[in-house]
Parts: sequence; C-alpha cells; structure tokens
Amino acid sequence: MIIIESAHHIVESKLNKKPSLVCKGICKSVHWHDTDANQPQVLVLPKCEICGGNLKLATENIDYKVLELAITNEEFGFNKISRIKPEFIKFAEKTWLK
Ligand SMILES: [Zn+2]
Repeated sequence: MIIIESAHHIVESKLNKKPSLVCKGICKSVHWHDTDANQPQVLVLPKCEICGGNLKLATENIDYKVLELAITNEEFGFNKISRIKPEFIKFAEKTWLK
C-alpha cells in the first residue's frame, strides 16, 4: 500500500507502487495507469476521473510526495481513495465538486 500527498489530496492505494500520472487540471490528484512498456510513445492518456482535466506523467517530489510505502497484499484495501486536504475543501466545492 502507498499513501501519497499531492497538492490538494491525500491519496491512498492498495498498490505497492508510486503513481504514474498527475492531473494538470484543477484537482491535481494522482493516478495509477498501466502503460504499455512496448509502445510508450503512442500512450493515450485518460482524462482525470475527478475533475476531467488532462493528465501528465508524474514526477516524485514535484507533483507528489510519498508519505508511506509498505509492501502489502495488493488484493486487499482501496483501489484508490482520494481525500481532499481540509484546507482545500472549500476550494474543491467551488471548483471540481461543483
Ligand atoms: Zn483532476
């Protein structure tokens, strides 16, 4: 499992790996996306499921920080739970949660 801090979110996943993508839109959350290692140049990035923004490849310590990473059974736990930091809840309500 891993816990990530992004600009506006604390994100927890049962996956034992760092997120691959970050939202360039208003929410700035992180995403895990399986890329095709054989064809990275034709990768079509999905849109952010939270705010609909465009995603880009994420860089650790710029787009996010790892708060905790522990090797656990990936069968169990949250696929992804993205909690808005308390100080950004009002901002979220006015923007991507509208
Ligand atoms: Zn977003």
